[in-house]
Amino acid sequence: MTQTFSNGSNPNKGLSINNINTVDANATGKISYRLDRSSPSNDQSTKQQSSVEETNEAMIEAVRTMLLSVGENPEREGLLKTPKRVAEAMRFLTGGYSQYLEEIVNNAIFDEGHNEMVLVRDINLFSLCEHHMLPFMGKAHVAYIPNQKVVGLSKLARVVEMYSRRLQVQERLNRQVAEAIQTVLEPKGVAVVIEATHMCMVMRGVQKPGSWTVTSAMLGIFEEDQKTREEYLSLIRHQSTFF
Ligand SMILES: [Zn+2]
Repeated sequence: MTQTFSNGSNPNKGLSINNINTVDANATGKISYRLDRSSPSNDQSTKQQSSVEETNEAMIEAVRTMLLSVGENPEREGLLKTPKRVAEAMRFLTGGYSQYLEEIVNNAIFDEGHNEMVLVRDINLFSLCEHHMLPFMGKAHVAYIPNQKVVGLSKLARVVEMYSRRLQVQERLNRQVAEAIQTVLEPKGVAVVIEATHMCMVMRGVQKPGSWTVTSAMLGIFEEDQKTREEYLSLIRHQSTFF
């Protein structure tokens, strides 16, 4: 589900079992579950290479057009290199399109026989909303209960990063991260909560600085078993003592 808080309401108040429910695919309807594209073949990579150069030029030209459209002069000194910089920044911020799940987790799945909850909290994320191409940023809390197989902890952060570096809506990002972990580990359950603030709400539109949105996705045992879900929610609320 998705919840939006405004103007500094207490973050932790929102995270009670009553108002964090699972993202319901049927209820939300439009969430697309495209997990990932498969890796490109060599042929495709060469084609992609030349098309990257072409699209870079096109992007640079598009930024020039935007500068002109807002009444700026792209020839003035401060703006001379801006189109190129913006194109490079966009390329970086959408770098997740050229990453693949199987490459990221490759060689990092271990058969540990571990069956207790694994939780990586406070994974910083930076993404761009697909409606305005403005940033949204926040934290993801990713947990799973292994079914023998575990994955290197940093890989959970890499999965969040890969899906964040694409044009997104928070709900889909949340669901994609959960389903990716479900796919690669086949664990007993996956829980992902994302808390984020959206610049398209803060800087424009309703202009509500301090508003933030919580989404969650619970799969498997996290969906079925209330105690497990509660344990996860209490662990993500718990303040660590070493920061
Ligand atoms: Zn937006």
